[in-house]
Amino acid sequence: MKNETGSLMRPDALPESASRPVVTPLSPSVVYASDTPDMLDQQYEGALHGYTYAREGHPNADVVAKRLDRMEQAPHPGVVTSSGMAAVSAVLLGLTKSGDHVLGGNQLYGRSLRMMTDDLPRLGIATSMADPGDIDAMRSALRPETRMILIEAVSNPTLRVADVAGLAALAQEKDILLVVDNTFTTPRAFRPFEHGADIVIHSVTKLLAGHSDVMLGYVAARAQTLNDRLRIFTVTAGMNPSPFDCWLAERGMLSFDLRFDRAQATATRLADHLATLPGVTRVIYPGRSDHPDHDRAAALLGGQFCNMVSFELDGDRSTANAFTRAAAGLSFAPTLGDVGTTISHPASSSHRALTAEKRAELGMSEGFFRVSVGLEDAEALCTVFTQAIADAQSS
Ligand SMILES: *Cc1c(COP(=O)(O)O)cnc(C)c1O
Repeated sequence: MKNETGSLMRPDALPESASRPVVTPLSPSVVYASDTPDMLDQQYEGALHGYTYAREGHPNADVVAKRLDRMEQAPHPGVVTSSGMAAVSAVLLGLTKSGDHVLGGNQLYGRSLRMMTDDLPRLGIATSMADPGDIDAMRSALRPETRMILIEAVSNPTLRVADVAGLAALAQEKDILLVVDNTFTTPRAFRPFEHGADIVIHSVTKLLAGHSDVMLGYVAARAQTLNDRLRIFTVTAGMNPSPFDCWLAERGMLSFDLRFDRAQATATRLADHLATLPGVTRVIYPGRSDHPDHDRAAALLGGQFCNMVSFELDGDRSTANAFTRAAAGLSFAPTLGDVGTTISHPASSSHRALTAEKRAELGMSEGFFRVSVGLEDAEALCTVFTQAIADAQSS
C-alpha cells in the first residue's frame, strides 16, 4: 500500500504576507479556479473580474498591456499577442473579409509584406502596395472596397518617413482605417493615435522588451468595437502570449525610456561619424539634414530620430563579408532593438527574395547595411566601425 502524500493537492492559497512583492509575480497558471458556478457566471458576464483560462487573459499579459496602453495613450485596453506578427495578423485577418482590399506601404516589414502578397489574396482579400511618403500614389492605389491602409512611420531598412498627416486625412476622407506599425519609432518618439491612426501595432520583441529574449506583440484600436473584435479574434486564433514572456517584457520595459534615449544619442553620433569615413558612400539617418525626409521626420517625430542607421559601403559581397567578419563584438543578426548593437544585411536577409535589380531600385546594394544601435559607449562603437570598415576596404 502506497502512502498518500498529498502530492495531488493544489495549495488553497499563497502564503500570506502583509507586505507585497515589488516585482510582479510570474503567474504561469493556465487555469483559474472559481468558487461556484454562480461565481463563474458573474465572471463571464463581467460582473466580477476574474481570470478563467490563460488563452483568454492572464495577469502578466494585463500588466504589460496596461504599460503599453499608457505609453501609447490608447483609448481602450489593448491586446498583448505572442509576437509582433500575431498583432499584424490579428489586424489583417481579424478585421477584413473576402472582397475587401488592403493598401500597404511598399516597404513594410518583410513578413507583413508576405502576408499581404501571399496570404490575404488566397482568402479573397486583394492587396496592393504604394509609397506611403507619396500621398498621390497612395490615393490612386485606393479602391472602392479598400478597408484599411497599413504603414510603418519609418520604413525598413531605408528609413524613409511616411506622410502620416496626409494619410490620416485621406483615411478619414474615405472612411477607411489607418493602421500604423509603430515598432521602429516607439511611443517615445511617436504616438500614432495622436496623429489620426485608428490602430497601433507593435513588435514588443524589439526596442520595448529590448533584450532579444522575448517575442511579443501588441495591438490597440481607437474604436471600442474594433478593439473588442481584435481581443476576441486573438483569443480564438490562439495568439495569446506566454506569461513568462510577458514577465520578461515588463522587466525590459522598465528601462525602455533610458535605453531608447541612450541608443538614439549614440545613433546620431554614429551616423555623423560614418559619413566621415572613406569607403562609406551613403549614410541614411533621418536626423541628418542630407536625409530626403529630414524635415518631415523632424516635424513628425518631435526631433527624435530613433536608433536605426543605415549606410552603404563601396564594394560587393566580399566587402560585406569582410566588414561583418571585422566588426568583432557586434552581432551580425537580423533583428533590432537589442541592448547590443546589431547589424543586418538586407541583400542576404530581409530582402533576399528580391532580384538584384529590384533591390537596386530600393537603394539596397550588397554594400548596404542597417545598424540597430545599442547601448555601447558611443566613441568605442565609432572606433569599431572605423576599424571594420577600413579592414573591409583593404581586403
Ligand atoms: C520585427 C517586426 C515585426 C514582427 O514582429 P515579431 O515580434 O518578430 O513577430 C513587425 N513589424 C516590424 C516593423 C518589425 O520590425
